[in-house]
Amino acid sequence: MRRAKILGTLGPSSNTIEKIAELIDAGLNVARVNMSHGTHEGHKELISNIREASKRTNKEIGIMIDLQGPKIRLDKVDKPLEPNEGEEWVIGQTKDKDKYPEYKDCYIPTIYDKLVDDCHDGARILFDDGLLQATAVERDRDVYKIKFTVGGILKSNKGINLPDCEVSAPAFTEKDKEDLLFALGQDIDFVALSFVRKAEDILQVKTLLHKLKMNVPIVSKIEKPQAVDNLEEILKVTDIVMVARGDMGVEVGNHLVPAIQKHIIRLCNTRHVPVITATQMLETMTENPTPTRAEASDVANAIWDGTDIVMLSGETAAGKHPVKVVKMMSNIIEEAEKSPKDRPLLRHMDLSNVNASVMVAASMIAEKIKAKRILCVTESGNSCRKISMFRPLTPVLGITNSIQTARKMCMYWGVYPFYIHEFDEDNFDFQIDVLNKVKNDGSFHNGDKVVITRGDGKFFSRGSSNSVKVEILNDLPGVPGSGEGMEKASDDKKDIHLDTSVCASCNNCISVCPHGIWTLTNDESKRTTIAKDKIGACTIDMECVEKCPTGAIEIISKFL
Ligand code: PEP
Repeated sequence: MRRAKILGTLGPSSNTIEKIAELIDAGLNVARVNMSHGTHEGHKELISNIREASKRTNKEIGIMIDLQGPKIRLDKVDKPLEPNEGEEWVIGQTKDKDKYPEYKDCYIPTIYDKLVDDCHDGARILFDDGLLQATAVERDRDVYKIKFTVGGILKSNKGINLPDCEVSAPAFTEKDKEDLLFALGQDIDFVALSFVRKAEDILQVKTLLHKLKMNVPIVSKIEKPQAVDNLEEILKVTDIVMVARGDMGVEVGNHLVPAIQKHIIRLCNTRHVPVITATQMLETMTENPTPTRAEASDVANAIWDGTDIVMLSGETAAGKHPVKVVKMMSNIIEEAEKSPKDRPLLRHMDLSNVNASVMVAASMIAEKIKAKRILCVTESGNSCRKISMFRPLTPVLGITNSIQTARKMCMYWGVYPFYIHEFDEDNFDFQIDVLNKVKNDGSFHNGDKVVITRGDGKFFSRGSSNSVKVEILNDLPGVPGSGEGMEKASDDKKDIHLDTSVCASCNNCISVCPHGIWTLTNDESKRTTIAKDKIGACTIDMECVEKCPTGAIEIISKFL
């Protein structure tokens, strides 16, 4: 099971139900709907297509809307503009274009109404993530004359950065508010804020959500140098962080991005805030069917740095190979996770909280007893977030009766949602309503151990787990070790029985028997079996019987 999650932007290459279903099957965990492009009508249809694809694939998927923020962008242009190096163009608001017929062939229209006021002579103006560069020459009424130092092709909606100017626009714009209110009426799970500068930017949106009685996790996109400076404060109020390397690279220079990325991830890991690494991770796959080695290394290094989620942008939204790119990312992550990074040290974790210490204990127990899964019963998803931050080696199933909580887990490292649609709250029976449903999902064998965490006393008690329990599965029909395969071996002195329906394959018998009577099957299941040709050597000292934790072994002497 892959631990880190994949967030993919959906767009023209990936907006049909069929394509989204393919992306989900390829490993997409969260879909990003970018409010910087498209219309509400289009977003509504996309969100509904994502939900339908999730239903068809029977896999939960989170939806993150990404608010544009005070992003300065080109407006729509009829055809791409082609400024060359050394040429002078003008930049101004779209609505002013007709006022300046003399500039009609060199007019760059922007949606940002304060650009001309915020700009000053000599300031750098960067387009399309810095691919095209210009310098402000002089203001002419309501437009600014600019001279290109690096030319290129400019398409509709491309970003504009003013790294030398104090941008006066607020972090949460009027457009963001409209987009957020629209999105809250749709079925979304996360909201990303762009160009966050300080904690107050997030609190402003949290207050609005609070007033609306909505609880939607906020993703803070760190792309401004001011946000890096204020990171500690931002981490106290945000739910998730995104290292938005595109605009960050333009704002601070690409040479500083790797160090800032590592710093942000490290701080998020220690403050237990899930972190997304974004932008140009497999960029060349927008065109090509395979990535460069540098891109594959970039994804793997982000995983080793400790990122929880990696993001695809144009690769899935507008690329030629959206499904291939998700599969590729998934493969790279799985390979990287074969050499896991060191997990956080216990002494660096705040375990004074009952929930956190219970979840850490559950992870340690699960690893020591080689449990197949940790079943984390949760209402709010809080326990799952806590256990995720401890980086358990055992995969976690987050069991919940809340669809919102199930979708939140799509962002949590190592946690997969198991949504239980209906259960009878009044006549609730854990075995029937939870355990049987989980067991029937087909990935368990008899003898598998599971570690269960839950809020004891009241089922699905909100926010906090206070109990850890170990169960050995022994009642699954029709799978290996289902009791249909009681193994027996006899000689003239004894009968040896192994009940495979309860054997946990813990290997205790193998380790204590000096005669090699216990061994493992050669097939994929690698379960314990009797080496029938060796049973003559058994001295009936019963050590294997005593060491068997499940009572699967019985040895009957024919002399007694
Ligand atoms: C980024 O700048 O890296 C980013 C993710 O933001 P956007 O794609 O909205 O520009």
